[in-house]
Amino acid sequence: MSTARGNSNRNRPQKHQNRTVFKNDLHDSSHQTKLLNSLQISGVCKRCKDILDWKIKYKKYKPLTAPRKCVGCDQKTVKHAYHMLCRECAKEKKVCAKCCKAPENEEVAVEDSQTETTDIKSMLKGLPERRRRTMLRYINKQEEEHGEISPELISKIQDIVAQMAKPNFDEDSLFGDDFSGSDDNDEEDQH
Ligand SMILES: [Zn+2]
Ligand SMILES: [Zn+2]
Repeated sequence: MSTARGNSNRNRPQKHQNRTVFKNDLHDSSHQTKLLNSLQISGVCKRCKDILDWKIKYKKYKPLTAPRKCVGCDQKTVKHAYHMLCRECAKEKKVCAKCCKAPENEEVAVEDSQTETTDIKSMLKGLPERRRRTMLRYINKQEEEHGEISPELISKIQDIVAQMAKPNFDEDSLFGDDFSGSDDNDEEDQH
């Protein structure tokens, strides 16, 4: 691949470039929270919207300080945190700007978001007994650590269950450090 860029010839130098202003006073958390609460999460699928809403609700949402590179058009056009694609690319490809998947299961997912636990159980129903138990242990552990089952965790579980359905599924690589099983290491996660 060449390293040449099309726009390297600039006729006039920029005098002063006012980039995105970095404000330190954004630490005012109540203001920040208000700002986040007013954010419109759009252009993402139901699953990702739940994740982002959850992040906002629990103040885990970190807004971008500068536009990020879009994986679709390679331009710094991504203005929303956690998004992979810019609005235009997502619209054009008809995919979610965050997970880049076409929201084909939208109707199914929309049905009821409140019965999360039941949902997980029904997801696990199709799994072989041993894997189901592994998953339940994993879920319980996450619930213990985080105090609840977040939409993020649910979507992770959905991913894992989908992985498990594949013939070349590798349990160890999937859970990795997250779920090494035996030892608890408490010192790792302090906030
Ligand atoms: Zn793009
Ligand atoms: Zn998505």
